[in-house]
Parts: sequence; structure tokens; C-alpha cells
Amino acid sequence: MAHVVVIGAGLGGLPTAYELRQLLPSQHRVTLISDQPKFTFIPGLVRVGLDVDPLDHFQLDLEPLAHRHKVALVQSKVTTLDPHDQRITLENGEVIDYDYVAIATGPSFAFDAIPGLGPHDGYTHSICSPSHALHAREAWLQFLENPGSLVVGAAPGAGCFGPAYEFILMAEQILRQKGLRDRATLTLITPEPYVGHLGVSGVKNAQKLTATLLRKRGIEAIANAAITAISPDAVTLDDGRTLPQQYAMILPAFRGASFIQNTPGLGNKKGFIPVLPTYQHPDFPSVYSLGVGVSLAQPEQFRVPIGLPKSGQMTEAMGMAVAHNIAVQLGAIHKLLQTPTLEAICFAEFGETGILYVAAPVLPDPATGKRRYSYAIQGKWVVWGKALFEQYFMTKMRLGAAVPWYERLGLRMMFGVDLVKPIAATPTSAPASVRA
Ligand SMILES: Cc1cc2nc3c(=O)[nH]c(=O)nc-3n(C[C@H](O)[C@H](O)[C@H](O)COP(=O)(O)OP(=O)(O)OC[C@H]3O[C@@H](n4cnc5c(N)ncnc54)[C@H](O)[C@@H]3O)c2cc1C
Repeated sequence: MAHVVVIGAGLGGLPTAYELRQLLPSQHRVTLISDQPKFTFIPGLVRVGLDVDPLDHFQLDLEPLAHRHKVALVQSKVTTLDPHDQRITLENGEVIDYDYVAIATGPSFAFDAIPGLGPHDGYTHSICSPSHALHAREAWLQFLENPGSLVVGAAPGAGCFGPAYEFILMAEQILRQKGLRDRATLTLITPEPYVGHLGVSGVKNAQKLTATLLRKRGIEAIANAAITAISPDAVTLDDGRTLPQQYAMILPAFRGASFIQNTPGLGNKKGFIPVLPTYQHPDFPSVYSLGVGVSLAQPEQFRVPIGLPKSGQMTEAMGMAVAHNIAVQLGAIHKLLQTPTLEAICFAEFGETGILYVAAPVLPDPATGKRRYSYAIQGKWVVWGKALFEQYFMTKMRLGAAVPWYERLGLRMMFGVDLVKPIAATPTSAPASVRA
């Protein structure tokens, strides 16, 4: 009997735990460790920050879900992980031994990188966590009482840009609907080399569609920009420009969870975990990881550094490969190991309209520098598509389904996208030692 532990019950961890439970016979234990009592659908936090939807619309209680779907839930924060002894220590003092662990702890936030950044000790808002989004919403409602300069963007090193575009374009629509648009100036500041890059170079039509939409809505966009300081009423860039702000929502650069940063050899210096194509750690065969916590390098260098986006769909694909590969290593299924394709589809909601960005795959072929295909396409149906997907995702989390066969088929038929592909076993993907 093996004990498989998933750390983090977010967009990656919860479906991975469900998939493991479905793939592994009942003699193997599956434990999910979460520092939060609820699952949060993070993409919904843009709407929470702008007071479009309440937070509970995007949350589910983990306890009844885990009970119903036969996953053991431990609610506490992981403080240390010993990959040699295969042992996890929790904030509540509990110690958990594992045979395999899948780390899905998402990002921590580098607010300390820029003076004045962040909702805790700084002067900017964030929508990256439920508590940040609630704080952002409170300040947004105050801003609406007396609108002025709204600055939205991302810090140097950020790898997640879509939510900044969503936030500013949805904010613009709200201001317009409330008859307040002429009282506000809206500016987008981004380290991306051009507007609509989103961390992925050369997506067909992405720059043109995104820049045109911002222009039509009267939003000034400053790309290739490095924010260096933030004060209560201004944002300063490295070229000396200073922009006034009454409300600023700036996405920070991400790091991995602090226990990863504190465990020698587990992650890189930012706390992101290196992986083999199987998403197994190169040095610790019992450790797998997925989602934002995985180390995926941006293949290009730009004047202002940016990361590679790790979207929800890429995260799910990583989770499916991880669950599959652990099941193969435990002998529960007899198939080739898998790797996620990292073919990404991203629905972005921009008020009355939206843009669908597709990059298949996100990382171009290292030999040719090419992708199978990529494109961006605009329409109101993208907004409906995003709302439908959100409902679908919440429903499958309620039902204990990870990525059912009809979703995989739909992705292939509609977008030509596959989540995972088989790979031959490599000597480095040896099984971990399973305790008796
Ligand atoms: C505002 C915003 C909007 C986004 N919109 C989109 C979108 O529209 N489309 C899209 O594809 N992607 C979007 N993304 C990206 C998407 O949310 C991520 O790809 C996805 O959430 C990554 O999943 P994850 O499991 O790695 O992290 P998360 O979903 O963040 O889950 C990590 C979980 O681990 C828990 N955890 C952390 N540390 C510990 C610990 N020490 N012990 C126990 N538990 C711990 C956290 O509390 C959290 O519950 C968005 C991201 C943001 C921030």
C-alpha cells in the first residue's frame, strides 16, 4: 500500500487528487493537504475585485468534497518537506510520511521586490488571492465614489498578465455604465515587450487585437515598462516617468511557496521546482510538481524581465500527467508515462467583448522555434465561453471529476489541443521507494 500526498487544493491540486483517487486502487491512500478550508477558482477573482460577483461564487468547501470523493483532507500549512526521508511537517505540528508527493502550492508573491508594492505594506492592490481580492474590492468601491487616475499593470518579472488586461478593460466598462468614465484616466503599465504579448511571443493577432481594444476604450498602454517605486499617490517607472494614481492594481512577480524556498535542492532560487518531462523532480523520484510552482523558463530575454505564464489549463494538464505517472509507477496502470503538452487556451473577459488566446504549445519547439499554431480571436462569445467554463469547472470539482474524456475530446475537436502525450520511460524516472 502506498501513501500519495497532494499539497495545495487549488486549480492544480484538487483535480490531481481526484484523478489519483480514480486511477489508484483503494488500498493506496490519497491525502490532500490544504492551508485553506475552501477551494478557490482563482480566475474569478478579477470579478470579485471589481464587485461583479461575490467571492463565494468562486469557492467550494473542501471538507464535504474530500469526504464525498474519498480523499483524506488535512487542513494545515506545510512548513517543511524532507525529500530524503519523504516526510512533511505541518504548521499544526502533524508529521506526514509519503511515498509520492505532488506539490501544487501555486505562487507566493514578490511584493518585497518594489518599494510600495502590495496590499500589506504598500499602496497597490492585488487580485491574486481571495483576501487580496476582497481588499481590492473595498478600495474599488471607494474609488467609484470619487474616481481619478486608475493604474493597472504588472511588476517586472511577472508571468501572469491576462488578469491585468481583464481588470482594466472590465473597470473601464463599469465606469462607463455608471456614467463615471469621463472622471477617470486609465493607464496600463506592463513589462511585456508589447501589449498583448502575455508572456508568449508571436501569437497571431494577439498584439493587434489587444492594442486596438485598449485604444478604442481610451486606455493608455505603456509596454516594456519597469515599475521601480510606488507611493500613496504615484507609480514611478525606471525611465523617470511618474504616473498619478488614486487606485493601482499591480500584479506582482511570483515565487514558489516558502517551504520550497527553504528546502535545499528542492527548488531554484525563486522556489520553483525543476521537473523532468514526467514532472518528477530530477533528484527526488518521490516528488512531483505541477502548476505555478513548476520551474518553466521564459525562452526569450527582453529589456524588462518577464516570466512564462502557467495558465489554469496548463496546470490541469500537468496534474493529469502527474497522476497518470504516479499510477504507472505504482503499477496501477500499464501504459507509457505522459508529459503535458502545454498547449494553452485562455479565455479573457474584457467587458462587452473578450479575446481567446491560443498557443499550441506555449513553448515553441527549441529546434525550429515554431509552434504547431497560435492565434487570438475576439468576440462576445468569448465572455460567454469563459462564464460557461467557470460553471463547468466548479461543477466538475463538486462531482469529483478531474478532466473527463468528453472534455479531452472537446478540446481536441474545438481547438485542436491535447492536454498530455505519451513518452517513453527514461532511466531518471525510476520509481521512488514505497514504504512497506
Ligand atoms: C487573478 C488571476 C486570474 C487568472 N485568470 C486565469 C484565466 O482566466 N485563465 C487561466 O487559464 N489562468 C488564469 N490564471 C492562472 C491560474 O489561476 C493558475 O494557473 C492556477 O491557479 C494555478 O494553479 P495552482 O494549483 O498552481 O495554484 P493555485 O490555484 O493558486 O492553488 C495553490 C493552493 O495551494 C495552497 N498552498 C500554498 N502553500 C501551501 C502550503 N504551504 N501548504 C498547504 N497549502 C498551500 C494555496 O492556498 C492554494 O489553495 C489566473 C491567475 C490569477 C492570479
